[in-house]
Amino acid sequence: LFLALEGGDGAGKSTQGRLLRDWFRERGREVVMTHEPGGSALGTQIRQLLLHGDHVAPRAEALLFAADRAHHVETVIRPALHRGDVVITDRYLDSSVAYQGAGRDLDADEVRSLSLWAVQGLVPDLTIVLDISPELGRARRGAVHDRLEAEPDGFHARVRARFLALAAATPERYLVVDATEDPDQIHDQVVARLETLVGV
Ligand code: C5P
Repeated sequence: LFLALEGGDGAGKSTQGRLLRDWFRERGREVVMTHEPGGSALGTQIRQLLLHGDHVAPRAEALLFAADRAHHVETVIRPALHRGDVVITDRYLDSSVAYQGAGRDLDADEVRSLSLWAVQGLVPDLTIVLDISPELGRARRGAVHDRLEAEPDGFHARVRARFLALAAATPERYLVVDATEDPDQIHDQVVARLETLVGV
């Protein structure tokens, strides 16, 4: 079972990831919890280049995120899925479509094709989108931690709209939740949806 958590910065993805990991472990499942960018050793170096360098040309940025994901999938995610573990990733392909495709001025479909090529077509069984407004996300994050967070609200508004559009296009593969709700209530919604999935 492959699950992805997506949404704006400050939406509470890591909290939901932990609640979900504990829920599966209580049910005796092996869980690999991972994240992008930086879910592998090579990825940690790519993350550094992406987030803490100066300006990165948009196409270079898209390629670096795709490179991080390609390595992450081959060395962490596929082996875990092969063992039968549950994989929960904090961000995946849709982050690239939203941030590099819609946030930056790149063609979102091209960015998606690039990412699909990078991961040889591996998509999550369910993607959970934690929906949050740019203003609230900024307030929750507090200080700016990286180059992407420093982008203006208009950038984050385009990112948000793209996550929602992706979810609307294939609703059977998505759950959209209101990230302003209480974390336990959000978790209950996630679990309710998971219980309808085969193989959980
Ligand atoms: O989720 P995390 O805080 O680790 O992500 C690091 C930064 O990279 C965030 O500011 C996020 O918005 C950005 N990001 C991005 N494009 C991606 C994935 C993450 O701009 N494909």
